[in-house]
Amino acid sequence: MKKIDEILTKNVKTIAIVGHTRPDGDCVGTCMGLYNYLADNYSLDVDIYLEDFLPSLRFMRYSQNINGNEDSGKKYDLLIALDCSEERRMGKGKEYFSTALKTVCIDHHISNPGFAHINHIDSTACATGQVLYELLDPQKVGKETAECLYTAIVHDSGVFQYSSVSPRTMEIAGQLMGKGIDFSSIVAKTFYEKSYNRNQILGRALLESIRVMHGKCIFSVISAANMEFYRVTPKDLDGIVEALRSTEGVEVAIFLYETASQEYKVSLRSKDMVDVSRIAAYYGGGGHIKAAGCTMRGSVHDVINNLTGRIEQQLKAGGE
Ligand code: AMP
Ligand code: MN
Ligand code: MN
Repeated sequence: MKKIDEILTKNVKTIAIVGHTRPDGDCVGTCMGLYNYLADNYSLDVDIYLEDFLPSLRFMRYSQNINGNEDSGKKYDLLIALDCSEERRMGKGKEYFSTALKTVCIDHHISNPGFAHINHIDSTACATGQVLYELLDPQKVGKETAECLYTAIVHDSGVFQYSSVSPRTMEIAGQLMGKGIDFSSIVAKTFYEKSYNRNQILGRALLESIRVMHGKCIFSVISAANMEFYRVTPKDLDGIVEALRSTEGVEVAIFLYETASQEYKVSLRSKDMVDVSRIAAYYGGGGHIKAAGCTMRGSVHDVINNLTGRIEQQLKAGGE
């Protein structure tokens, strides 16, 4: 794959940057990182399409330039999709994908089929922020770009904790720190600090969590009524499934929240023994070996029964 600077041939004048639906820290950080890199080094017409995200990520420079719900109707010379595991998961920028003259996909999901003209997918990277950094000229990465990419890596690595973190991740993080960013404030303000309501709903989910399969599996469910009561939206539920997984003895954590009557968004996290991307893919979703998601229909009872059945199968096969 060519570096970003090589893709920007002289006939590329208009660019769309597109993230995935329900954008997380990696998605927002990578999209804003690329936007800042282009702003610092080129004079191009760049639009960025991202759905609503947590206010704590708004510190990134130019985040006020993100397109809201308006439809620009533009046809772009180049569209770059970041952190999108498949075409249908592109958020509101999806409509520009089919009309763009050239498309590029930069990602780290093992389940990504490579849906663009040019694909750079590295499933060994802990974050798309890391994949993007490899495609930039480090000399041209300014402080603001570094802030965005550091945020991306911090969020998808659980602050450099997950097994997806490699020596290369730390080298890149070191280079980003070298740009003079306030790295401890990024971790404190964007990863650990939560609104009072977010903390309350996290507490509620932990309080009502249930262990099954002799404590190897834990699940919790937040209903639409709960979300209304605590005045939170889905983006405020990020982090709950990781908190569930941190329970001693747990191999797999399941977190559900209600998206419609008899419909749940499912988040799965595993420790060592279960590949949750296989389970999510079976139910029409996807993700990584230790972090995956899908949407399922039916009662909570049925959803949990189906998921735990699949988890049990894998645990049994692994134990043989
Ligand atoms: P989540 O549990 O939503 O935080 O997602 C965990 C991982 O699985 C992320 O990398 C997502 O991109 C991926 N993922 C979540 N939901 C889906 C889905 N419906 N289809 C494909 N991938 C998904
Ligand atoms: Mn993401
Ligand atoms: Mn990611």
